[in-house]
Amino acid sequence: MTAKRVYLSTTIPYVNSHAHIGHALELVQADVLARHHRRIGDDVRLQSGTDDNSLKNVLAAAEEGISTRELVQRNADAFASLREHLSLSFDDFIRTSSDPRHRPGVERLWRACEASGDLYRKGYEGLYCVGCEQFYTESELVEGNCPEHGVPPQPIAEENWFFRLSKYASQLRDEIVSGRLRIEPASRRNEVLGFIDGGLEDFSVSRSVARARGWGIGVPGDPTQVIYVWWDALGNYITSLGYGTGSQDYQRWWTEADQRVHLVGKGVLRFHAVYWPAILLSAGEPLPTKIFVHDYLTVDGRKIGKSTGSGAGNDPVELTGTYGVDAVRWWLLRDVPRVGDADFTVDRLIGRANEDLANGLGNLVNRVVSLVHSSRDGVIRAARPAGTSRWLAAAAGSSQSGSAAGQDWPDDAVGLLAAIERAPAAVSTALADFDFRAATGAIFEIVEQANRYVDATQPWHLARAERAGDAAAGARLDAVLGALVAACQILAAQIWPFAPDLAARVAAACSDSAGVLPEPRPVFPRIEPRKYPATAKEAEVIAC
Ligand SMILES: [Zn+2]
Repeated sequence: MTAKRVYLSTTIPYVNSHAHIGHALELVQADVLARHHRRIGDDVRLQSGTDDNSLKNVLAAAEEGISTRELVQRNADAFASLREHLSLSFDDFIRTSSDPRHRPGVERLWRACEASGDLYRKGYEGLYCVGCEQFYTESELVEGNCPEHGVPPQPIAEENWFFRLSKYASQLRDEIVSGRLRIEPASRRNEVLGFIDGGLEDFSVSRSVARARGWGIGVPGDPTQVIYVWWDALGNYITSLGYGTGSQDYQRWWTEADQRVHLVGKGVLRFHAVYWPAILLSAGEPLPTKIFVHDYLTVDGRKIGKSTGSGAGNDPVELTGTYGVDAVRWWLLRDVPRVGDADFTVDRLIGRANEDLANGLGNLVNRVVSLVHSSRDGVIRAARPAGTSRWLAAAAGSSQSGSAAGQDWPDDAVGLLAAIERAPAAVSTALADFDFRAATGAIFEIVEQANRYVDATQPWHLARAERAGDAAAGARLDAVLGALVAACQILAAQIWPFAPDLAARVAAACSDSAGVLPEPRPVFPRIEPRKYPATAKEAEVIAC
């Protein structure tokens, strides 16, 4: 398989408030894809960032009585810090108000569309939701309210710049139908096609300087207008690559990349699957190759909004601080379906972590390492089972393919061996389909099979028989322990893209590079069911 060049991006959130668990979902999904591609030897760039130029930031700052720049700086820092809290591996983080690469790129994109004759001025009246930074038609409203925010949009009348979206309808349709622009899941692709077939109208791509309160990027050559924040924000996917500053990165990661993949939430589908590709077509630049659309998380059955904002038990920083990054990542990957909303609760997070990570994987590693210590003083006597080093090399993305040689697996380890053999391809297929649940499920098969194998072979009985003089039991014990340690090492390698911190602990617990395994120490201690309310903040939320 030849290495591919893969550019992955998350959306860039508004920084008018703090991060919530929904942001964590997209970041973690993107991180898993990046780590997976890296380990199979692909050349990967993962990008995230913040959308600083939104009018919402201006309004939030005014509400707090601080400058917009101050608010944006503070909140963008908090988003950037998720890298540590969630163990993310992004290579680049763009802040659209301060990154020197951004403005020249947005301006170049504007000029390119202008040169194609796709920008024109026109008077306009419409209903605008500041929350969405978007105009709505009457028919799109739900009982007169914005479908996303449930508040009435404001009537706005002004002269703006417009983009000739209508001109690109058939070209766009062609890109999507041909699969050159793949939108997943298929239901979202159909939604986009339906939207295109319903007729594309040109859309307003600037605001008056007064309405934008002077915040944002000015329209080149028109001092009265500021570029629409969505145009500005969507541009981040290429401005960060130096589209406007002449960097080689643009060629490397956009025009010549094998895959240009955007991860987006369902609420911003139209912007990413219609507006953005049309702007790129107008500018004469390549389109993304894939757009993966995830649904939303609710928290305790409620939509994430002001009432369930951070501080109500869904702040990723608080959650990782209390329950650890592995538990949070694992819940997001293992419990959130590919299609459909999922409900987050702390009890579900704890339940999943205890079942899978403490009782499943943690218990397996602990039992195996303890057995090697109690019966063999920490020394693994058996030669590595066949294929182990090859699987480890493959899972670690090593350029050496690893040897398939080794001792035969014990005859009764067929189920375990089958799960190990199946996992790499199953994970690859699932991730190519953005199915994180199926991917983690394939890995978890190994855990279940290995625990079953411990129960079936009862190594402690073999050790007792050996002590009573049964040499054959001793030889069998060596083979069983050898197979189990190999399974744990393979698990550590397989689980790395999903829960890198936990993977490192499992790998360390099962490493005999010093000749003996380290003393057994829990790799994932059970989380005690919490007392509710656990924090003063939660008590406050309940009280009101
Ligand atoms: Zn809205």
